[in-house]
Amino acid sequence: MALTPLEFPADDWLTWLNERGAGQLQAARESIAELVRAEPGSLLIVQLWNDAAIALRNAGSVAGLLSSVHPEAAVMERAEEIEVEVQGYSTDLHLDPDVYRALSSVAPANLDDDGRRMLAKSLRDFHRSGVDRDAGVRDRVRELEAKTTELSLAFSRNIRDGRLEARVPGSALAGLPADYVETHPVDSDGLVGISTDYPDVLPFLTFSTDAAARRVVASTFFSIASPINDPVLAELLQARHELATLLGYANWPDYDAEVKMIGSGDAIAAFIDTVSAAAGPAGEREIGILAARAALDGETEIDASNWRYFHEFVKREQYGVDAHQVRRYFDFGKVHDGLLQITGQLFGLRFTPVPADQARPWHPDVTSYDVSFDDGRQIGRIYLDLHPRERKYNHAAQFDLVAGVRDRQLPEGVLVCNFPRGLMEHRDVVTLFHEFGHLIHHLLGGGQSWVRFSGVATEWDFVEAPSQLLEEWAWDAGVLQLFATDADGTPIPAELVAQMKAAEEFGKGFLARTQMFYAALAYRFHLERPTDPTARMLELYAEYSLVKPLPDTHFYTGFGHLAGYTSGYYTYMWSLVIAKDLFSAFDPDNLLEPEVAAHYRDAVLAPGGSKDAGELVADFLGRPYNTKAFEDWLNR
Ligand SMILES: [Zn+2]
Repeated sequence: MALTPLEFPADDWLTWLNERGAGQLQAARESIAELVRAEPGSLLIVQLWNDAAIALRNAGSVAGLLSSVHPEAAVMERAEEIEVEVQGYSTDLHLDPDVYRALSSVAPANLDDDGRRMLAKSLRDFHRSGVDRDAGVRDRVRELEAKTTELSLAFSRNIRDGRLEARVPGSALAGLPADYVETHPVDSDGLVGISTDYPDVLPFLTFSTDAAARRVVASTFFSIASPINDPVLAELLQARHELATLLGYANWPDYDAEVKMIGSGDAIAAFIDTVSAAAGPAGEREIGILAARAALDGETEIDASNWRYFHEFVKREQYGVDAHQVRRYFDFGKVHDGLLQITGQLFGLRFTPVPADQARPWHPDVTSYDVSFDDGRQIGRIYLDLHPRERKYNHAAQFDLVAGVRDRQLPEGVLVCNFPRGLMEHRDVVTLFHEFGHLIHHLLGGGQSWVRFSGVATEWDFVEAPSQLLEEWAWDAGVLQLFATDADGTPIPAELVAQMKAAEEFGKGFLARTQMFYAALAYRFHLERPTDPTARMLELYAEYSLVKPLPDTHFYTGFGHLAGYTSGYYTYMWSLVIAKDLFSAFDPDNLLEPEVAAHYRDAVLAPGGSKDAGELVADFLGRPYNTKAFEDWLNR
C-alpha cells in the first residue's frame, strides 16, 4: 500500500501541533513503558525501541520546524515547549537503567545485520552516558555532565558579554563602504569606536587602509574574554577529561571521536598534519604574494591584523569580479527551477508540484513537491520556504518534517532559507545547492527500517560532505548556463565563472593552514590541558598558521567553538576533504553524467546511516577514502 504524506490542518495549527507533537511524545512514553515490561530477551523490545524512537523523532521534527517558521506566535511558542519536552525526555531515556537492562537482554544473534548494528549503536549510547556502571560512577557522570554544560555556557557567555571597543582615529574609516562610515560617527575627539562584534570588526580589518588602526582593532578582537575565560576553560578541559577517563577512555578526544568517522584522537592529529603539509606549498606561495603587496605599504609581515586587508586587495586587483555583473544572471525564479531540473536529471528524480490547497503549507510563500524516481516510485515530499519574513529562522538550513521509515512513513523535509525574491548573489546560489544536498540526503536515505538510520544519520563529521559536494555544481559553467541567464536570455559567460572561481579559491592554502591551527589548538588543549595556554597557543601558531599572531593577544579565550565542537574543530576541513574525494569520481567536463550520479545516489545517499560513512564512501569509490583529491585541488 502506498504511504501518504503528513496532512496539514486547514486552519487550526495549534490543535494540530498538539496532536502531532505532544501526541507523538505521549506515544513514545507508552512504547517505552511497554518495553520495560516486556519479557527479557524478546524481540518485541527492539521493535518497541524503534517505535518509541520514531514517535520521539516525529514529535521533535514537527516542533523544531514550527518553532522556526510558523507565522503565528502561539504556534511557535507551543512548538518551543514541545521541543524542550522532547529533549528532556530523550536525555532521561538514555539515563534509564531499566531501559538499558531491557535492551541489553536481547541476544544480537537473534537479529539480522541491520538490527544488530542498531542495537550495538544504541547500547553504545547508554555506555557513553555511564548507565551500565555502578551508582557511584553514574552519579559522578551526571555531575560532570552538568558541570561541562554549565562551564560551556559560561565560556560562551563570557565571549558574548565580553564585547570590547577599540577607539581609533576617524580617518581610519577610509576604505570602508559608505553605509559602514555612516553608522560609525566620529566623536568630538576625532575618534571612532569599532566594537568586537563581527559586523563591526570584519569589514574594518578587510577594508580600512590604516595599518596602525587595524592593529589596534585586531589586538582588541583577540583579547575578548581574557583573562576571565582562563579559569573557565581550565576547569572545562579538566571536567571533560575526568568524564572521558571515568567512562574508560584514555582522554576526551578519544571519547569524542569514537562516534565520528575519524574514530580516534590520534587520527585527528594525523589528519591535521596531513592537511597542513599538503597546504604548505600553496599557502607559502599565497602568503608571499600578500607579503610582497604589504611591503609596498611598508608592512614587513602578514599577521592577524593585516591578512584580510591584503587578501581582499590582491583578490580585487588580480581577479576583480564585479558583483553587479554576476547578480544579473541569478534571477531567483530561474535558479529555483534550474536547481530542480539539474538535481532531477542528476539523481533520476521527478518533482511534481503539490497544489497549495492540497499541501496547505504554513505560509503562502512555501511551495511543495512530491518527489519520485523517474519510474514513478514514490520517495517523499519536500517543502521550500525560501524568502525572509518576520520572526522566521534567519539562516539557511534543512529541517526534517518526517523521518522516513520503510513501509511506515514517507520522508518529508523542508528547506528554510532567506533569499531575495529578485536577483540573487552567487553566494546564495551556492548556499541553495548546499542545503538542497542535505534535503536530498534526507529524502533518499529515508527508506530504512530502523529510524535511527533514516536520512542524514551518518557520523557527525560526514554530514556536511554530501552538501559540500553538491556545491560543486553551482561552480560549474556548463551547469550554470542551463539556468543562469540574464533578462535577455543570455547565459552567464564561462570566462566570468572561471574568474569567480579563481577569486574564490585564491588563499585556499594559507586559509587551510589557519584552519589547521584552530583544529590543532582545539585538539591539543583537550588532550594536554596546558598549564600555560598562551605559551602553547604560540607554539601551535608557529607550527601551523602562516599568519603571525599579534603580541599579548589570547585568541583562545574568545574561540567559542571550544565550547560546542570541543576537540572536533577538524570536522570543517574533514568533510571538505571527503567531498573532494567523492567529487573525484565525477567527470569534470560533464557533471550531469547520469551513471556516476546514480551510483553515488545508491551507494552513499540511499543507505542513510545504515553503514559507517567510511564504508559508504568506499562502496562508491571502490577504494577507501583518502586525501589525494583534496591535495590535488589545493595545489592545482
Ligand atoms: Zn550544511
